[in-house]
Amino acid sequence: MQSPPLLISQLLRYGTELHADSEVVTWTGTGSRRMTYAEVGRQAAQLAHALRSLGVEGDDRVATFMWNNAEHLIAYIGVPSMGAVLHAWNLRLFPEQVVYIGNHGAATVVIVDNTLAEPLSALLPHLPNIRHVIVNGHVEEATRAALGAPGHVEGVHDWSTLLEGMPETYEWPEDLDENCASSMCYTSGTTGSPKGVAYSHRSNVLHAMSVAMTLSISAADRHLVVVPLFHANAWGFPYVAMATGASLMMPDRFLQAEPLARFIETERITTGAGVPTVWNDLLQYLDTNPADVSSCRMLLVGGAAAPPAMMRAYQERHGIDIVHGWGMTETSPVGSIAIAPPSAEVGSDEYWRYRTAQGRIVLGVEARLVDGDGREVAWDGSSVGEVEVRGPWIARSYYANGTETATELEEMTAKFDDGWLRTGDVGCLTRDGFLILTDRAKDVIKSGGEWISSVALENAIMGHPDVAEASVVGVPDAKWGERPLASVVLKEGATATPESLREFLGDKMARWQIPERWALIDAVPKTSVGKFDKKVLRKRYADGELDVTTVEIR
Ligand code: AMP
Repeated sequence: MQSPPLLISQLLRYGTELHADSEVVTWTGTGSRRMTYAEVGRQAAQLAHALRSLGVEGDDRVATFMWNNAEHLIAYIGVPSMGAVLHAWNLRLFPEQVVYIGNHGAATVVIVDNTLAEPLSALLPHLPNIRHVIVNGHVEEATRAALGAPGHVEGVHDWSTLLEGMPETYEWPEDLDENCASSMCYTSGTTGSPKGVAYSHRSNVLHAMSVAMTLSISAADRHLVVVPLFHANAWGFPYVAMATGASLMMPDRFLQAEPLARFIETERITTGAGVPTVWNDLLQYLDTNPADVSSCRMLLVGGAAAPPAMMRAYQERHGIDIVHGWGMTETSPVGSIAIAPPSAEVGSDEYWRYRTAQGRIVLGVEARLVDGDGREVAWDGSSVGEVEVRGPWIARSYYANGTETATELEEMTAKFDDGWLRTGDVGCLTRDGFLILTDRAKDVIKSGGEWISSVALENAIMGHPDVAEASVVGVPDAKWGERPLASVVLKEGATATPESLREFLGDKMARWQIPERWALIDAVPKTSVGKFDKKVLRKRYADGELDVTTVEIR
């Protein structure tokens, strides 16, 4: 058989030429802004010419600081197709973290939405690699001047003006190595700095095919992408759309339940993807504000465990299947998807056991469970181990750029076990390949779908002169899924209070990362090797043994 390289440009051509009439629809807050895939293809070509004119060549990185909208889709497929590497910056990170990932990825051009231009202008002085800024939409002269102020910024360009007059076709290179990087995302681990994952053309094409097939996505679908394009490779949906011709519904910055409900109703949306908190908020909203969501057949939920009650409520009240999936930035991200087998009678306990599991391992991903002694654990639905995976869209290593310390490199390597990725997730597998997660080996906390590093919080709290020790664990929270609980040991005679500690964190952590729950304790429990024993703290909290003060957020 022939073996041409698998390239993003093939997806681009297929989507924009054979599905030319499919469309990307961006919500404006009051209505829809539409663009056909034919137009997406033309603008992707114009963008590629424009980027070349700005000096982008080889595997240069092009960054985006954008919401989910048509132009972000164009960058998502256009940048890799020309051979450059797309790096979507996570705009919800604390400024220092954006600067960290920006400098680590070392993009030379950044594309920014006009609504995000101001926050970006504050970061640009700390991003010395950036030579050009492309602004999507209109900005005031003062903002434009602020973007161009740092000495290293050679030009600030308007998206439409820059693309205008550029040729509407591009000779997408066909001789790229399918294994070269096409895009990258950063994840935050247990240690301070976020880690980069570089996806390849091949991994993205294969992943898109698998996701499209497993979820039965077709050109008939109008798919709502709530998951940000900067999170975990956007779960592959820009590429799934090009591979199937499914139209993409982009909510831009209108991510609250009310505009999402209007968007679904107006655009007759059929499918969607997002973290549990988004769908949970929408469910509550629909309870008191009826909207016609009858067009919707399926919403994919992942990134954190989906509450079973929410899944049942959607099914019963709206006839919508909430499909549970599991994955990580390092796995492109889709590793498993929970579609119940036909043998399970709809509505039965067995059926819900399948549906609420993290899902069946998808074709292309191999999984195994490993216990604390490094032995493989049986797939019997009850034996528990750490999940390890491998396959064509599973990271083989983290992206290192030569600035890492020896300890960081060691930590990065430790995540891989003889060709398998150690996921840090703990659970069991059934005989028919359904993953059920019971725990998380990592020490980070996921609040509203976004990570909070417990180590970063601990380090910040322990920077307070009154604090002897501090340990942070994630505890269940009705609204956010999880929130941090800080257990603090004060120095003798010290007088710090939860209120004063919260205030102390004010300029060190993003507001939403600062804990409301505080426990002043005598000593942090330790493991046999002297590490903080977070399991014990979690259990004490669950058993009601910790004296917790809750400081309300004002
Ligand atoms: P991220 O790299 O931000 O996508 O985070 C990946 C991590 O999120 C996984 O390793 C899991 O700990 C967690 N996660 C993702 N999906 C699920 C799920 N369906 N249920 C429970 N945890 C999940």
